[in-house]
Amino acid sequence: MKNIIKKKANVFIKTYGCSANQADSLYMKRRLEEAGYEISNYENSDVVIINSCTVKNNAETKLFRALRNAKESKKKVIAAGCVVDAEKGLVNDNRLKDVSIIGTRNLDDIVRSVDEIIAGKRTVFWNGTKKDFHKLNYNMFNKTISIVPIAEGCLGNCSYCKTKQARGVLQSYPKKDIICQIETFLREGAKEIWLTSQDLANYGFDIRESFIELMKDIDELNGEFWVRLGMSNPNHLLRIVDDFNEVIADSKHFFRFLHIPVQSGSDMVLKMMNRGYSANDFLTLFKRIKNKIPAVSLATDVIVGFPHETEEDFKKSVELIKEIKPDVINISRFWARPGTRAATMEQLKPEVGIERAKILKDVFNEIVKDRNKDWVGWKGKALIDEKGKLKTMKARNLWYKQLIIPNEDIEKKLRIVSDESIGHWINVEIVGVSGYSLIARII
Ligand code: SF4
Repeated sequence: MKNIIKKKANVFIKTYGCSANQADSLYMKRRLEEAGYEISNYENSDVVIINSCTVKNNAETKLFRALRNAKESKKKVIAAGCVVDAEKGLVNDNRLKDVSIIGTRNLDDIVRSVDEIIAGKRTVFWNGTKKDFHKLNYNMFNKTISIVPIAEGCLGNCSYCKTKQARGVLQSYPKKDIICQIETFLREGAKEIWLTSQDLANYGFDIRESFIELMKDIDELNGEFWVRLGMSNPNHLLRIVDDFNEVIADSKHFFRFLHIPVQSGSDMVLKMMNRGYSANDFLTLFKRIKNKIPAVSLATDVIVGFPHETEEDFKKSVELIKEIKPDVINISRFWARPGTRAATMEQLKPEVGIERAKILKDVFNEIVKDRNKDWVGWKGKALIDEKGKLKTMKARNLWYKQLIIPNEDIEKKLRIVSDESIGHWINVEIVGVSGYSLIARII
């Protein structure tokens, strides 16, 4: 329960990156609100927190640009997130001399950090061991979506990865705390829960818990809600795939949607990436899931232009994508993060990555066009979960397909203002395709 003391100052939080980072921002927001701070827009803020991400290219450049802008507007600034954790030298970097720093495992110090910077004192809370797992207490992403981190860090050691340097070795949260957090969100009105971590499938290794048992316990919770699974790496998921399929196939609550990053279709490249599986392992995993849950939606990630990736290697990635026909693909051009092993390898010319990313995107666009056409005419249940663009709302069906519904249709059929429709369960018919989305009407 919020215990507002009094408004002390306005704080703006800028979040970059994945749902783990978004969850961290929501955690800071809740802590600050409880301490009497107001979370505001940028213009009205006294303090700006920049929660950075190292996954996308030029993360550091983005961080410094945001810091410079905030400082020019005479705002007090706190740098947070994976960039400050992964780039150890930044703590003493002259450019950050009047910027406070807070690491991803020091978020419990956020109120002190803001108190101090308002009083004119720079603080560095960094290199902590973990968040206070027993006080998971996040805000909801919106009226219906809430993000529940189940672990921090991972068991991988991928040669290109900076996130590992920021988030560290796997630290799973106790199962009972996760369940308790979900129950709290459900009481607060959540209908869509996003489970997140760097690799869901390795949940529990460190604390003698099991991801399968966690899923079963979640699925037994009462209420009408759906759960989205975040990223699971192929090697760990393959180990538990039969039990995993059993839970998902008969589940009341889990979206039939998986995010399994393959990264490359070439065994040579996967080895250089130190991913711990082969392209064939990934295909085996994919086929075993497809056999049990034929209509499952799949998201995957591919890095193109990795050091030493030949034309032949790249073709293997293209062939693999053509074979699995994913519903969503995140294509990244390789970019060497300083301090990683991949950065010391012989790099390809940037144009190679640009060209390959374009080819793969074109391949995917054809796939998604075909896959989406198959959905036209489908009728069933969906949940309105976000505001869309241009007078529309977004909804999801059980396969986590994004459905676009015109506000006009919502207002006419549900007789409510479209903004208030978030969290409504509806029955829809898919009537068309627009880019990567499906157009639906309420029936
Ligand atoms: S699994 Fe690999 S890419 Fe993912 S966070 Fe861990 S080291 Fe990084």
